[in-house]
Amino acid sequence: MLRRLFGWLVLVAISCTSGFGQANGKLQIHHMDVGQGDGAVLISPGGQVVLFDVGEDMKRKDCTMPLSYLDQLGVKQLDYLFVSHYHFDHIGCIPAVLQQSPLQGDAFDRGKSYPGKTYANYVAAVGSHRKTAAIGDVITLDKNAANPVVITVVAVDGESRHGQVQTSNENDLSLAVVVSYGSFREEIGGDLSGDNTQMYQDVETPVAPDVGQIDDYKVHHHCSSHSTNDAWLASTKPTVGIISTGDGNDYGHPTADCLERLHTHGLKRTYWTEHGNGETPEAGLDVVGGNIVVEVAPGANTYTVSYGGAAPDTYQTIGSGTSKGPTSPVTPAAGAKKYAWSSRSQVYHYADCDFVANISKENLQQSDTPPKGKHLHTNCPVGGH
Ligand SMILES: [Zn+2]
Ligand SMILES: [Zn+2]
Repeated sequence: MLRRLFGWLVLVAISCTSGFGQANGKLQIHHMDVGQGDGAVLISPGGQVVLFDVGEDMKRKDCTMPLSYLDQLGVKQLDYLFVSHYHFDHIGCIPAVLQQSPLQGDAFDRGKSYPGKTYANYVAAVGSHRKTAAIGDVITLDKNAANPVVITVVAVDGESRHGQVQTSNENDLSLAVVVSYGSFREEIGGDLSGDNTQMYQDVETPVAPDVGQIDDYKVHHHCSSHSTNDAWLASTKPTVGIISTGDGNDYGHPTADCLERLHTHGLKRTYWTEHGNGETPEAGLDVVGGNIVVEVAPGANTYTVSYGGAAPDTYQTIGSGTSKGPTSPVTPAAGAKKYAWSSRSQVYHYADCDFVANISKENLQQSDTPPKGKHLHTNCPVGGH
C-alpha cells in the first residue's frame, strides 16, 4: 500500500514538473529547421522540456515550421527557456511558441534591453518568467534520476568566468551554455563571436577554457566568418557541428572560412538544417538534413545524430574522466583583483593568467576594472584548467 502511494506521489511529482514532451528515456536535442535563425528543443529522459531560442526567418516571416515540429513532438508546455540574444532570428517566434506551449519555469536571458518591436514582444511573452542569467548558473533536469541533465551558463553579456569583454555588438553578448549528460557534452551559444574587428569582439577565446572538450558544437552565428575561431576549436575539440542556416539568406552563411576551420580541426561531420546561401556542402563531410536530432541513452558512451530520414550516425562520446567539465565559478580570494598588468606592457591579463607571475613586482598593477589604452591578452594559459 505504502509503495503504491509512493508510486502515485512520484507520478504526480513528475506530472507537475514535466513538459510532457515525447520522452523516450534518452536525452534528445532537436535542432529545428527554422530557416535562417536558431531554434533547439531539449527533451530530458524524464520528459522535461527546454527551448533554446526560436527565431524567425527574415524573408519567410513565418513560425509554422517550429510550431508544427513542436506540436508533432507532443510538446504541450515548456519547463525552461534560454535566450541567447535579442536578434529576431533567435527570438522572433518565441511569442507564438509560448502561446502554443506555455512556459512553466524561468526564461533566462542576458538581461538589459534592446530596441525594437521584436524584443518588446518577446519581453511581453515571457512576462514574469524572465530572469537574467549569470555565469555559473546551473539548471538540473530529472533532478532525482540516476542520470540528470545539467545545463551550465558559461557566457552572458560579453562576460565569462575570466572577466568582461567590452562590446556592444548584440552577437558578442550571446548567452552560451554547456549541456552535460553522462559523458556527453554539447555547447549552445547563439551568435557568440570569435573575431576582433571594428564590429566584433572575440568572446569565444576567453570562454573556451570553461567549456572544455565537447562532443557536439552548435556552431555559433550560423557559421559566419566572425565565429568559430581556431583557439575555440583547439580547446573544445568537437566531434560534430550543427549549423542552423536558411536557404537564400542574405549573409552568405555558412561561410567558406568557418567551414574550413571546422574541417581543419578534424570534425567528423557537420549537419546543416538547410543548404543556406554560402559555401556548398563537401561530400561526406557536410550534410544538409532539415531537423537534426541528437540522442544519448543513459550511461552510454555513444550518441546518435539523425537527419533528413537517413540512417542515424553514431559517434563515441569524448568519454568520461579525460574530458573537462565546465569548471565551477572561482571565488576570488579576499582582496584579489580581477585584472593584472605590467605598467610597461601594452596588454593586460585576467588575474589568474599564468603570465601574471612573470611581471616584476615594481611594474605589477591590479584592478577590478580593465586599464584604459591596453589590450586584453586573450590567450592566457591558466594553471589547473
Ligand atoms: Zn545575432
Ligand atoms: Zn543569428
